[in-house]
Amino acid sequence: MRRFFPSLSSLESYTRSLKTLPKADTCQHCLKNDQWVSHGYVYKRGASRFNEITGKRILCSARYGRTGCGHTRRLYLDHCIPHCHYSLGVVVAFIQCLIRGQSVENAYFEVVNPSAMDARHAWRWMNRLNRQLGYFRSTLKSSFTTALNAFSVQSRRRQILLPTLASLLSRQKRTYSIQSVFQSPLF
Ligand SMILES: [Zn+2]
Repeated sequence: MRRFFPSLSSLESYTRSLKTLPKADTCQHCLKNDQWVSHGYVYKRGASRFNEITGKRILCSARYGRTGCGHTRRLYLDHCIPHCHYSLGVVVAFIQCLIRGQSVENAYFEVVNPSAMDARHAWRWMNRLNRQLGYFRSTLKSSFTTALNAFSVQSRRRQILLPTLASLLSRQKRTYSIQSVFQSPLF
């Protein structure tokens, strides 16, 4: 089922056509694909008065004659990583700092608000990226060509992770569409 959308208009056009979704867009709980109803926007609480829209919810409805199961599903705009306070752009900037050879801590401090400085988060991001390594490499398949020795980092794990991420990012027409291209969260 589609989960990531490149723009608010593409997300809205999807939730306007919930009655005619393809067979593949079934509810993972009850396997029906024709009981979805739009269930409102999801916002990120920002510093400004206006909260930013990060996605929409749809409901597999069991009310008003519908026979769904009542589960909701969250659909995301591309720039929003599920369960991550920072946007995709911030995490991609972090990855680009690592690719340029910065340490994990320095890369993190460069991209986040100084008041939020806590290097433990940087290592959480690294763990989440490392857990995705197998998936990243499977999406690249045989086109994986970036030279491993181009990355002179000391961590063995990062010697594999960073070239993989560099290849993945370089293959996107728009870096920030990576989640809707693969229909999978960055991490
Ligand atoms: Zn359902």
